[in-house]
Amino acid sequence: MKVRSTPGHESSSVNKPSPNTMIQITDSALPFVHLIDHPLVQHKLTLMRKKEASTKSFRQLLGELSSLMVYEVTRDMATQAVQIETPLETMQGRAIDGKKLVFVSILRAGNGILDGVLSVVPGARVGHIGIYRDPATLQAVEYYFKMPKDMEEREVIVIDPMLATGNSAAAAITRLKECKPKSIKFLCILTVPQGINTLHAAHPDVEIFTAAIDRELNDHGYILPGLGDAGDRIFGTQ
Ligand code: URA
Repeated sequence: MKVRSTPGHESSSVNKPSPNTMIQITDSALPFVHLIDHPLVQHKLTLMRKKEASTKSFRQLLGELSSLMVYEVTRDMATQAVQIETPLETMQGRAIDGKKLVFVSILRAGNGILDGVLSVVPGARVGHIGIYRDPATLQAVEYYFKMPKDMEEREVIVIDPMLATGNSAAAAITRLKECKPKSIKFLCILTVPQGINTLHAAHPDVEIFTAAIDRELNDHGYILPGLGDAGDRIFGTQ
């Protein structure tokens, strides 16, 4: 499995599928997947996966990991020339317009990523989407949706630690597109080929940034080997 990895690192073979793994990332989705394989990211993810990691350390590591990953997700962000005065002379610097960026958290686990990304882009706006799957109809049901105004002028980064089945991410982005943002990217910590394929099939324009692509989903929709229930581990609700 070859995916685009961060500059400075060669494309890597990741989590070679076990012989009984049926699902592979589709050829059409592959160019839209960015594996952030920086050593610091991989180190922190490994610590988070450990079952003995406390709520406090899990949350702290997720914050640190998110702030590292957002560098890569914002790599192509526009900058403008700004004139500034150094103590010695006038110069032209480059600046981003952080306010044009919106982090959209998919509740509730997405909130675990917010502090980390906002520590790097403090001027960014924040939206929230609450969505759950009705166990009877299996349809995505929205229970909360709040975005900043003027979304047409903004770039969106959707955040959710786990891209598992991909169904709620796809539903959230479908809803988000009603606001017509300029662009949408998806940032997660962990995913699996099935989640990537589902999200890409629904939204082929959305690039996916992840720290790892794990083997498969179990029968309950959990990522294997994974890290467990991200929301429970962030909020200590298990
Ligand atoms: N959501 C989680 O929190 N964990 C998984 O493994 C899959 C979805």
